[in-house]
Amino acid sequence: MHSHVSGIHHVTAIASDLQANVDFYTGLLGLRLVKRTVNFDDPSAYHLYYGDGTGTPGSIVTFFYWPGFASRGRIGSGQSTALTFSAAPDSLAFWEARLAQHGIPAKRLARFGEDVLRFADPDRMPIEIVAVANDDRSGWAGGEIPREHALRGLHTAELTVRDAAPTEHLLTTTMGLRLVRREEHRARFEAGPGGSGRYVDVIANADAPRGLGGAGTIHHLAWRVADDEAELAMQSTLAAAGFATSPVMDRDYFRSIYYRERGGVLFEIATDVPGFSIDEPVDSLGRELQLPKQFRHARAAIEAALPPLRAA
Ligand code: ZN
Repeated sequence: MHSHVSGIHHVTAIASDLQANVDFYTGLLGLRLVKRTVNFDDPSAYHLYYGDGTGTPGSIVTFFYWPGFASRGRIGSGQSTALTFSAAPDSLAFWEARLAQHGIPAKRLARFGEDVLRFADPDRMPIEIVAVANDDRSGWAGGEIPREHALRGLHTAELTVRDAAPTEHLLTTTMGLRLVRREEHRARFEAGPGGSGRYVDVIANADAPRGLGGAGTIHHLAWRVADDEAELAMQSTLAAAGFATSPVMDRDYFRSIYYRERGGVLFEIATDVPGFSIDEPVDSLGRELQLPKQFRHARAAIEAALPPLRAA
């Protein structure tokens, strides 16, 4: 039996200003800071995870911090190019008013029969809130956002590539997704049982500039599988299809493999287990700095070197 991905696990992006990023995602958008840790390759930099109350796969957005304008990226082909959240259909007016109150320009558009509110984060990365009728995920109501308007998780992931054919081929064969619909240069695919949090939109844009990694861009898109067995099965399936994957990496909260699809986008496959409560209780997720075991001996030095961070 083939193993396939079942939806979005998380999206990881790069920000230039730690505090502005925390204020935007937890304050304005009302996501929960579910993990406060460091970049496993560079413990002098924070790695923050935002999500719903427990960091359910499909709700998670994570950020690396690359301070300074010099490291600003360029959005373009070979990247995931927007963060798209789901909200209840009658919440779009709430979000439109909230963004206006905070001086953030937003525009409405319609796509695939859905109403979309599009704006940008402090690094000018595109953010969308989509009105979705049939999404029973609950989101996080522990911040400023009333429960009925809470963002319920990621809705779709967006990929921009110059030539969509190789990307679509990978998605619909090796990875097991199904085409939902096409509209102009955009095609939507769904994974597993389908629905919000299990979509990806592939945009074909032969004229897009090549994307460059840096602040204000998405670094990679992580897909979810249930467990280690499913991950190893996907690793073999990808290898048989000619994709070089990384070895399995232990990210503490999930285990991951990485590979680049033919359109240039970095993909990750991450396990649903063990999740974010492995090193701290659900009630206090994200309050204290959590370090992977290889850095725990140096906690005092790492804490002293990290910039100050104010989070609710
Ligand atoms: Zn990742």
